[in-house]
Amino acid sequence: MPDLSGKVALVTGGSRGIGAAIATRLAHDGADVALTYHTAAGKAADVAAKLEADGGRALALEADSADPGSVVESVTRTVEELGSLDILVANAGIFAYGELADVTLDELDRMLAIHVRGVFLAAQAAAAHMTDGGRIISIGSCFAERVPTPGVTLYSMTKSALTGLTKGLARDLGPRGITANVVHPGPTDTDMNPADSPEAETERAFTALGRYGTGSDIAGMVSFLAGPDGDWVTGASFAVDGGYTA
Ligand code: NDP
Repeated sequence: MPDLSGKVALVTGGSRGIGAAIATRLAHDGADVALTYHTAAGKAADVAAKLEADGGRALALEADSADPGSVVESVTRTVEELGSLDILVANAGIFAYGELADVTLDELDRMLAIHVRGVFLAAQAAAAHMTDGGRIISIGSCFAERVPTPGVTLYSMTKSALTGLTKGLARDLGPRGITANVVHPGPTDTDMNPADSPEAETERAFTALGRYGTGSDIAGMVSFLAGPDGDWVTGASFAVDGGYTA
């Protein structure tokens, strides 16, 4: 288990699912954690309260990843209220599925805003405050590498953009010892992709291990990248997907 004592992390979309698991794991590793939510204020407050009950400092921040001002403010408030920023995990995301012809301009703009612009702006704002040796980790998707069904063109496109973003950040921030990496989850049991949905059997069959992942499967990789063993790992993409892209 890496020792993240004295570190401050910001996890976007930390109220539920993978983000809540990441926030919990980083706190368990010793970090103080700010987490953002968009609508689920109660769940975010519950996660933060649990982290504090376990002995760390925690902060739940309302922030819309689609709103540039809100993204930057969440970074600023983390620094103001928790004292610094060492680890950014850009996790907030939405899913949409449907016929290519039915994708509207609003849907296109919203998904780009949350999955691409919001991550860029969070990374840019975080880097301005980050201590040297910081960490930027974004959460992509196995669909960035393999698109086995129709209906997910928009989602896949936005998630694959994180690969280029990550490589660019690695070059821009490497001189300060700040690393940037992207973790691509496979089907993970959350509200977004419940393991008992009608599509779940198909999803399971696409993996090599024949099962859904859990939030803690993804959080384990994030914890590694955030810790000292991740010091020389940057600009890289990691599939944590049960072999979905094998
Ligand atoms: P969930 O739907 O369970 O949780 C989504 C999280 O993102 C919530 O905390 C939600 O906040 C937050 N969020 C959504 N929209 C916004 C917004 N506009 N601004 C701020 N926060 C927002 O999803 P998962 O935990 O499953 O997904 C987490 C990430 O992992 C996403 O980026 C997703 O694309 C990716 N992923 C998930 C996979 C899966 O199988 N589950 C597979 C591959 C990738 P609130 O609670 O307030 O609504």
